[in-house]
Amino acid sequence: MPIYEYRCRSCQHKSSKLWRNFSPPESIHCEHCGDGDTTRVISSVAFHKSLSTRLGELDPRYDKMVDAAAASTAEADPNRFLGRDIQRMSEAPEPPSG
Ligand SMILES: [Zn+2]
Repeated sequence: MPIYEYRCRSCQHKSSKLWRNFSPPESIHCEHCGDGDTTRVISSVAFHKSLSTRLGELDPRYDKMVDAAAASTAEADPNRFLGRDIQRMSEAPEPPSG
C-alpha cells in the first residue's frame, strides 16, 4: 500500500498519507498548518516492502548469526536430555528391597 508525501508550500512541512489506491489526489491539506497548497513529492521509501523483499535484503551473515546465537543456548546442548535423565535417576527413591 503506497504512502504519498506532500510538501506544504506555506510552511514547507511534509505530510504523508496512506492511500488504498494508486490514484492519489494532487494535493491534500497540510497536517501542520491546514493549508491546501501542497504538492506531491515522490519518496523513494514511499512503498512498503514486502516481507520477502526485506528477507532477501538481509545480510547473508544473518543466518549464521542466528545459528550461532541458537547454538549458545541451553536448548542447543545435545546432552541436555541425557543430563536431565541422569539427574532424575539420581533423585528417584531407591527401589524397595525385600
Ligand atoms: Zn503547512
